[in-house]
Amino acid sequence: MKKLENKVAVVTGGNSGIGLATAKLFAEQGAKVAITGRNKKTIDEAVFEIGNASIGLVSDVSDINNIDTTYGTVKDTFGKIDVLVVNAGVFIAAPLADYTEEMFDQTSDINFKGVFFTIQKSLPHLNDGASIIITASTVVHKGFATTAAYSASKAAVRSLARTLSAELLDRNIRVNVLSPGPIDTPIFSRGGASEEEANGTKAYYASGIPAKRLGTSEEMAAGFLYLASDDSKFMIGGELLLDGGAATL
Ligand code: NAD
Repeated sequence: MKKLENKVAVVTGGNSGIGLATAKLFAEQGAKVAITGRNKKTIDEAVFEIGNASIGLVSDVSDINNIDTTYGTVKDTFGKIDVLVVNAGVFIAAPLADYTEEMFDQTSDINFKGVFFTIQKSLPHLNDGASIIITASTVVHKGFATTAAYSASKAAVRSLARTLSAELLDRNIRVNVLSPGPIDTPIFSRGGASEEEANGTKAYYASGIPAKRLGTSEEMAAGFLYLASDDSKFMIGGELLLDGGAATL
């Protein structure tokens, strides 16, 4: 029996890394999946990879008007939304003294404001019993140098899951977070970092993980599947920490 048979899921940032692996697993498990992202070309490639009549929408989560139309389009296409994975995010790290207002605004607009309004704008289209899952991070629990603004944005969305779960209880909608540790995705090579720099960042994070390796997007996708399915229906406002022991040991 497939875990998401007859379900409709939206994955923001579903054209890369953790989001793409999650969208693929959801489709394998029977869901109709809509992915969003900023880049039409990678969205089209991802839709082809995901299959199962998935759709892709160009939608910038930091642009509220844009988000407003996205969820209506998904509802018009598939008739409902059962699972919302609020996953799009950026990782912009620099020492405090070098962190510019532009870096701060980008981090905040995508990782915090984007999450808040994605949930607000999707709300009229969510089914009774829907599961909302936000991608937070192990940085919610452990201090990593140079990630102050990023960590604060992830702590903010951890808090959103708790408060919105309380607010949406009457609609039988639950909100949880999945907090990945360092995962091997393209996120480390974005923002102009060379391959060598990205590998250096990954090696730095991997060295601090008790599991002695980075996690994989597929390992995260398995966690999202749990949170999306009825297997986790007693979990409300909670957090699934998948970080190879990074924050705990
Ligand atoms: P990734 O760069 O492969 O994916 C990020 C996705 O977000 C991309 O699809 C990108 O298009 C999308 N995105 C970025 N800005 C957007 C915007 N303004 N509008 C719409 N889409 C936008 O990286 P990933 O590692 O798969 O990251 C996914 C999530 O996991 C992020 O929220 C990230 O903060 C979180 N996370 C990642 C790690 C890690 O080590 N990779 C660890 C903890 C948390």
